Amino acid sequence: MLRVLPDPAPSVTERQSLSDGPADVDTESLEVATVRERTSVVSQVVTLVAVVVPAAGILSAAGLLWGVAFRPLDLVLGLVLYVLTGLGITVGYHRYFTHRSFEAVGAVKIALAVLGAMTLQGPVTQWVTDHRKHHARSDSEGDPHSPHLAGDGIVGAVKGLWHAHVGWMFTTKGMERGAAYGRDLFEDRTIRLIDRLYLVWVVLSVGVPFLVGYAVTGSVDRGVEAMVWAGLVRIFAFEHATFAVNSICHTFGRRTYDARDQSRNNWFVALLTFGEGWHNNHHAFPRSARHGLALAQVDVSWMVIRLLERCRLVRNVKLPTTAQISRVPRVEVASA
Ligand SMILES: [Zn+2]
Ligand SMILES: [Zn+2]
Repeated sequence: MLRVLPDPAPSVTERQSLSDGPADVDTESLEVATVRERTSVVSQVVTLVAVVVPAAGILSAAGLLWGVAFRPLDLVLGLVLYVLTGLGITVGYHRYFTHRSFEAVGAVKIALAVLGAMTLQGPVTQWVTDHRKHHARSDSEGDPHSPHLAGDGIVGAVKGLWHAHVGWMFTTKGMERGAAYGRDLFEDRTIRLIDRLYLVWVVLSVGVPFLVGYAVTGSVDRGVEAMVWAGLVRIFAFEHATFAVNSICHTFGRRTYDARDQSRNNWFVALLTFGEGWHNNHHAFPRSARHGLALAQVDVSWMVIRLLERCRLVRNVKLPTTAQISRVPRVEVASA
């Protein structure tokens, strides 16, 4: 049974401090710029519409089709795959591969890389290099997906949010010198192989729900139905939940720490992304394995890491020391 740790903030005693680890992933020391303190109301309204409308569309379609072309098997399979592949991104691509927040045994490393690839968010090396660059240049020139670099006014707000949510993938994704941000991954032969097999993981991501649907019901039609809901719709849902970390969590929510960028803590995104929505905390302490630093900030990915640690599958889990937490200034400025 998973549980949230009782301590309101991570303590230091038996854990690794954030300064431990390979220097080549230490994006904290790279230069970042200060941007304006507040985002615009227009920007927030556009974001809200962009998030709510597609989700409402899917939910109404699911309701209308329930019992006809959307059934319990599709729902359960979709939820299971959403959680497993989603953790591949949050625990795997993000906290393990990008920030090296813990060390993992080989089987866990491979499983996380494959599950992450099954979200169709790209090979792990590309994801990691883009994300390390995001931290290095957060909300300043060079950030691959900041919503704050497209100018002022309504046009700038709309363009910025579009760019941060999905537009950046058509322009700046993977365009930088990947090796500079991902030498550890480029030198890892296992990761090179998993990256080369990326299309296999893509096919598995839609093929597994089809095969399960077909195996359980004996019907090709039900296999296709499971593939649509537990494959395509599930991929779409988690894609946008993840994209929301880039767009919403740099626009909408509360700043607790002065992380020198526009990162925000957003409980709703945290709910959809297993804790990744505590994004202001994360920018303040990028190498921490735990993003939900307060007791009420539920962080499912952290619970999973704790579980894996107890099973001795991961070790050297990194958390900020109390001294490191106290050194980062608090701002407590909500977006307005
Ligand atoms: Zn960010
Ligand atoms: Zn990060």
